[in-house]
Amino acid sequence: MSSDSPWKEKYLKALESSEEREALWRSEKNQLQRMLVRTSLASEGQNPELDRLLARLRSELRKESPDSESWHKLQDRIDRQVSALDDQKAESARRNRATFEKLLSGLRSHALFAGSKDRLRSLEKRLRKPETLQLYFTDWLTDLADVLESGLAGTSEQTGRPGVFGKLFGHRETMAPIPEAGDGPVHAAPEASELDQGDAEESAQRLKIARRVGELLGHMLGQVSLEPAFEARARRLQESLLNSDDWDELREGLSGVAELVIAAVTRSQREFEAFLRRLDERLETLRQCFSDQSAAQAGRLNASEALDREIRDELQNFGERVESSADFGQLKASVGHHLESISGAVERFRTQESEREKNLSQQLELMHEKLAAVEAHSEQVQEELAEERQKALRDVLTQLPNREAWQERLAFEYQRWQRYRHPLTVGVLDIDYFKRVNDSYGHKAGDRVLQLVAKALSDRLRTTDFIARFGGEEFVVLMPETPSGAARSVLEGMRKHIAALPFHFRGDPVSVTFSAGLAEFTEGDDEDEVFDRADKALYLAKDSGRDQVIISGSGPAEG
Ligand code: GH3
Ligand code: MG
Ligand code: MG
Repeated sequence: MSSDSPWKEKYLKALESSEEREALWRSEKNQLQRMLVRTSLASEGQNPELDRLLARLRSELRKESPDSESWHKLQDRIDRQVSALDDQKAESARRNRATFEKLLSGLRSHALFAGSKDRLRSLEKRLRKPETLQLYFTDWLTDLADVLESGLAGTSEQTGRPGVFGKLFGHRETMAPIPEAGDGPVHAAPEASELDQGDAEESAQRLKIARRVGELLGHMLGQVSLEPAFEARARRLQESLLNSDDWDELREGLSGVAELVIAAVTRSQREFEAFLRRLDERLETLRQCFSDQSAAQAGRLNASEALDREIRDELQNFGERVESSADFGQLKASVGHHLESISGAVERFRTQESEREKNLSQQLELMHEKLAAVEAHSEQVQEELAEERQKALRDVLTQLPNREAWQERLAFEYQRWQRYRHPLTVGVLDIDYFKRVNDSYGHKAGDRVLQLVAKALSDRLRTTDFIARFGGEEFVVLMPETPSGAARSVLEGMRKHIAALPFHFRGDPVSVTFSAGLAEFTEGDDEDEVFDRADKALYLAKDSGRDQVIISGSGPAEG
């Protein structure tokens, strides 16, 4: 019978578009899964347990149809991990609080702080509030430092003898004068007529501390990322700590450093916490998406089964009617009636379908918005992490790889050497009499020499060789595929090149040389043994008059 085609077509079309929607939904879901995989990759490397869970999360996501029970369990465990991190933080806050409480009660009973009783009490009161340790810790520490400083400064005036803080933070009037910056060496002793021996030692001591803190600050800047304003301030502080001889300026610089360290620590902690929170939100969104989808799918199955059943029943009724009917008019009416019911069923199915579809697409849109925002953030975090990792492996002053990078590369080349046994040589280089450059021309000149030497050395190495600043004025090189004899030729070339560089300070020509020791990996060696041999060879080169390259186990180089 040909009259069956219109409703059949309708029916088939309804089923077809439901399949299309199904496919569309699947591809949306895949996209969501990929986004989550990327987010979880970005958050790796912060906490080992969380890393493990995120790896599981990814493998769960790769499954064709993640089952919602294990998904729930995983979500729970990630929740627990995040709250364990919270607990750790609370525990460390508790310990900090206990330590500071002890310190404050000690101070309150000490005669030195009799005049600061009120301030100590207020510090104690603030310490008890949870937000002090979480949000206002820097302010609190600054106030504590103030109280300490004024208490301790009080003693040195009373007794005329500066205590430890007095030595570090003492005011100019009560301290010995500091030599003015000038053409003389930085560590020059003050005039004997102006100062007695003790005072001279003391001010040299203080300068040393300031320079050391300046160096440490430089290292810190290489390792952490600060907000731009703090970064600029840190650079200014470092500059004055390394170069200034004005004690007032140095004193200010010293007290600024603690604040910067706190700023650096708080910043990285804050960023990671914010990231965890976003990750958590995202997990929840995806979990929600899975359960909505399962519910929708179940609804859709029921609806199409019902449609199927309804149509089958109608057809069966219709068949029975045809068989039992004798009257054509009655038959015609019955056909009309059945077609109407079938078409009504298809219509209802369609309306329900489009209602379901509308809900789903609204949810999808909402999720897309949320996820796009989180994804943008996670990409930014990923870039920042990568940048931070890069920064952590680079020396700020010379832009060469630093000691951490060296250890990584040495371990890598050592493993290759163990497998392939191709020659591999380590060299340790140290600038000769570098302290004289600093002492005669200042720290800045010293820094400049380090930068120029670093550049000259790395320019003359092959791309397969590796050079790093090991620390101070010491560099290390790693030469794969190179026996020690060939390595010596390379270093000899560098030595001659650097010795001939025309350094000029304040119009004086100054020659800069280095000494070096080399050692090649041999049977049974590990990284440390080879490094020690190269280091010993370096000291032999120093003892034999400097400005030369010596291979471990052989005599001084000729020419
Ligand atoms: P030697 O020939 O025995 O190696 O003598 P030296 O003077 O080079 O060695 P010493 O170890 O006595 O002094 C090294 C100096 O390097 C002392 C330190 O102040 C200086 N130094 C270390 N790091 C830096 C830096 O980053 N910048 C500057 N300007 N000087 C630095
Ligand atoms: Mg040296
Ligand atoms: Mg040295």
